[in-house]
Amino acid sequence: MRIPLIAGNWKMNMNHESGKDLVRKISNKVSASDTEVVVCCPFPMLLEIGKCLSDSSIMLGAQNMHWENSGAFTGEISADMLLELGVKYVIIGHSERRQIFLETNHMINLKVKKALERQIVPILCVGELLNERETQQTERVLRDQLENSLVNITTQEASKIVIAYEPVWAIGTGKTATPEQAAETIGFIRGWLKEKYGETLSEKVRILYGGSVKPDNISEIMESPNIDGALVGGASLNDEDFINIIHFQ
Ligand code: PGA
Repeated sequence: MRIPLIAGNWKMNMNHESGKDLVRKISNKVSASDTEVVVCCPFPMLLEIGKCLSDSSIMLGAQNMHWENSGAFTGEISADMLLELGVKYVIIGHSERRQIFLETNHMINLKVKKALERQIVPILCVGELLNERETQQTERVLRDQLENSLVNITTQEASKIVIAYEPVWAIGTGKTATPEQAAETIGFIRGWLKEKYGETLSEKVRILYGGSVKPDNISEIMESPNIDGALVGGASLNDEDFINIIHFQ
């Protein structure tokens, strides 16, 4: 019922040449299939990478955006600018944005709202820190992030969102959550959606796992019926790894 989604997050990596080479290799091996694929590249590459993807089923994504339409926001990028470049998805509230750039749930909420208004699919990231998991605060932290990032988001709007559960301690560390931890926590998120928006909505929203996803752990992560795909950082920079993750079945 929910179409699996594999999204690559290049973060601040690659350049025009290596990026184009990578997406050409990926799009040659990925046909329109049962899995949706998104590549979230850095802003300056969106135009060229978008051109390379124009004949492929792979969609273009960005890694961030601002919530205002235009104005005095030096260094920021608006949803309309992303739309002009053909962007279909945008990562919002990645833990690196929350931690390094001090994004708050309120800012993330404004971004989610604006992306939805402009019909860009937000991939809303949530996740706990290691000490929060170790002190049994995971559910409290996730509830807080979800409640405050989705303020004033209607059920109809929420049906368009993708949520990525990314335990912060698993990002770029090589430490993956066990399939049980991922399944349990994503089950909690789906339960929260059901409480807030009802069962129909909670069964519609795609929830991804992110954090050291690799070709050799994707299959067991995807075994849980609650997990609809992955947000992939490091392994999305290598064509073979990313292709093997896409073809996990
Ligand atoms: P990673 O990054 O796969 O390199 O752990 C995931 C992410 O930050 O989205």
